[in-house]
Amino acid sequence: MKIAILSQDSSLYSTRRLREAGEAQGHEMQIINYLRCYMNITAHKPAIIYRGKTLEDFEAVIPRIGASRTFYGTAVVRQFEVMGVFSANDSQAISRSRDKLRCLQILARKGIGLPVTGCAHATEDIDGLIENVGGAPLVIKLLEGTQGIGVVLAETHQAAKSVIEAFRGLDANILVQEYIKEAEGADIRCFVIGDKVVASMKRQGAEGEFRSNLHRGGKAEKIRLTPEERSTAVRAVKAMGLRVAGVDLLRSNHGALVLEINSSPGLEGIENTTSIDVAGKIIDFVAKSAIQVKTRNDTQY
Ligand code: ADP
Repeated sequence: MKIAILSQDSSLYSTRRLREAGEAQGHEMQIINYLRCYMNITAHKPAIIYRGKTLEDFEAVIPRIGASRTFYGTAVVRQFEVMGVFSANDSQAISRSRDKLRCLQILARKGIGLPVTGCAHATEDIDGLIENVGGAPLVIKLLEGTQGIGVVLAETHQAAKSVIEAFRGLDANILVQEYIKEAEGADIRCFVIGDKVVASMKRQGAEGEFRSNLHRGGKAEKIRLTPEERSTAVRAVKAMGLRVAGVDLLRSNHGALVLEINSSPGLEGIENTTSIDVAGKIIDFVAKSAIQVKTRNDTQY
């Protein structure tokens, strides 16, 4: 099968591993820098042109869209969809998952456990907002932040108020969340493919750090999930309409709480920590799903 990996950088670990895993399974793999694709948006012959050549005969794409390139990246994925090519994650689900607030609202609607979370626009409403999520200590997050940047723990009401005022003064959108102290600076990354968690790891923040991000000096180790954690992760991915995703959970006194969902989860941390061939499992899933979708479409006419 001819499979495209949509990635800005062919030297990235995840991109390389997906290519290797696909070739090992006998597929023809091509890495395509989606920022260099241009499109012909017509009903009779929609096309994508890459470095001057029309892309043809692809049966599946694996999008690895950078957070700052969501707009153009999802437009390219959508164009593949228009052309009838199966995508590991739908363009619409990728866009949805990139908005942290929207993501939490969708999960809440499906009854999935989340830390108590609030958001507000006007600085006049800050006191009410803080009380509404149970008061300090609490976590304040920049909606546009990634890798733990813009995630602040405010120990007191006054500190929380000052931070929120500062962020809002810069016109940054934020959300405010109850602090899950019992997580003790650790979170759990569940790697979900289809309806299964295929690998999981616990990330522990550096000494004195409540954020467990590996980019912030956190350390990862293998972990066994409880059945409840597995089902929460799978339900969360399904609720978002994703098929391949990383789900971050916090272990709280009242069970697993979803922190966020990543539609282009990195492979390096999870493969090195668990020694599981996650890339191979993605390829396997994508190839099987592409065939199923094609058969279904062919038999509809
Ligand atoms: P980012 O998307 O920037 O990684 P997260 O929301 O995942 O932001 O937060 C970064 C880290 O901070 C998490 O991995 C977790 O360890 C910690 N954290 C985030 N929210 C909470 C919370 N409500 N309670 C306790 N720890 C939290």
